[in-house]
Amino acid sequence: TMPYSLFVETVEQVPIAISITDKKAKILYVNEEFSRVTGYQPEDILGKNESILSDKRTPRTVYYDLWHTIRSKKVWRGTLCNRHKSGHRYIANLTIAPMLNAQGAVSHYIGMHHDITQAH
Ligand code: FAD
Repeated sequence: TMPYSLFVETVEQVPIAISITDKKAKILYVNEEFSRVTGYQPEDILGKNESILSDKRTPRTVYYDLWHTIRSKKVWRGTLCNRHKSGHRYIANLTIAPMLNAQGAVSHYIGMHHDITQAH
């Protein structure tokens, strides 16, 4: 059987930026690719809200749709304009999935994104 440490190491090294948040989008975990894509090391960003990545020019309706979808226990897929720690903007192709507890209620959210700026 696979050791648990290998499972953790796999998530750490997956080449997609992964973050795990509480129900209010407070960041509890980020993997190595997240730090590479966003510029934020874990110590910079753990405990902060995902909105730290927001380019404030994204229309509010996009976030409404995002939150309506994930709170309804559905997966949201979309494209957002994010701001890197260094200040430059990048296009993020994002998937946000709700994590459900044993009672079927949303307990956390998992965010996965990659930078698709080059593809434009
Ligand atoms: P906010 O006030 O945070 O949100 C704008 C609107 O979203 C609110 O008016 C409200 O309608 C809704 N909303 C916000 N929080 C909640 C809540 N807890 N429950 C219900 N509705 C709510 N944003 C990015 O810009 N880039 C990302 O890469 C990104 N990744 C995310 C990953 C995860 C796992 C999650 C859960 C969220 C992510 N978000 C991301 C969304 C982020 O949390 C913010 O909602 C968004 O950035 C807008 O921030 P804001 O400060 O402009 O406004």
